[in-house]
Amino acid sequence: MRIRIAEEAGFCFGVQRALDIIARSRSEGKVLSTLGPIIHNSQVVESLSRQGIESVDDLSEAKTPYVVVRSHGVPPEVYEEAKRRGIEIIDATCPFVKTAQDVARLLASEGYQVVVVGKEHHPEVMGLVGHAGGKATVVDDPAAVSGVLFSKKIGVLAQTTMRYEIFAEVVLELLKKARELRAFNTICYTTRRRQESTRELARQVDLMIVVGGKNSSNTTRLYEICVDMCVPSYHIEGPDEIDPKWLEGVKEVGITAGASTPPELVREVVERLEEIAGVKEGTK
Ligand code: SF4
Repeated sequence: MRIRIAEEAGFCFGVQRALDIIARSRSEGKVLSTLGPIIHNSQVVESLSRQGIESVDDLSEAKTPYVVVRSHGVPPEVYEEAKRRGIEIIDATCPFVKTAQDVARLLASEGYQVVVVGKEHHPEVMGLVGHAGGKATVVDDPAAVSGVLFSKKIGVLAQTTMRYEIFAEVVLELLKKARELRAFNTICYTTRRRQESTRELARQVDLMIVVGGKNSSNTTRLYEICVDMCVPSYHIEGPDEIDPKWLEGVKEVGITAGASTPPELVREVVERLEEIAGVKEGTK
């Protein structure tokens, strides 16, 4: 059995940057916590906890002088609240998310009805809505557009990890409703490349394994892409979940991984597959 890994899999630029910012802050002696789990990966979160870096759900729970804003970003009120509480924010918001936040503010300030294509309760989307002045409409499905009352001047942007096809379809639906439509494709380039390389690999193999947190939005998108490609696909969080039965008759298995999946975890999945298949050759 041949095991192939998608060209773009595992930690993305924004997640790696956030972890580097934490490591640098620690080496400077800063005592810190994170606002929400830094990434959707329990091993990484537990490892930080062992180093004394806890995740808090709310600034009111923070007992450290520094709090890290993760790559998802936060609404503007969080910065104001931190100032009131005397907490210093270490901002690890991904630059691509910052760009989307700037777009949300720009559209709101120019009087557009802001539409965010994304998952309503995802922290990044909640941040984007906040940057749009709290009044944005969130949709994650083109079919949902018909049930919403829109103004004639609409500005639309995407959650950075949204599937491009969904974003494009929502834009087309909005076009039917608006007199003026301004669309910003704020899907980040690593997400696009990751989705493309997943689609490409899924086209060529007999089985796809998607590695990453079940609560990770971008990992779920990758799984959906594999399913859309009609290839048997499994979304797992770790190697222990692999059922040897999945591999019966499989000649080529593809692996892809979400932006918050550590490279070690991908390696462990490869090792488990090799162990099951009883072969070492053919691994890319
Ligand atoms: S998926 Fe893209 S936007 Fe999100 S953290 Fe990674 S690089 Fe940044």
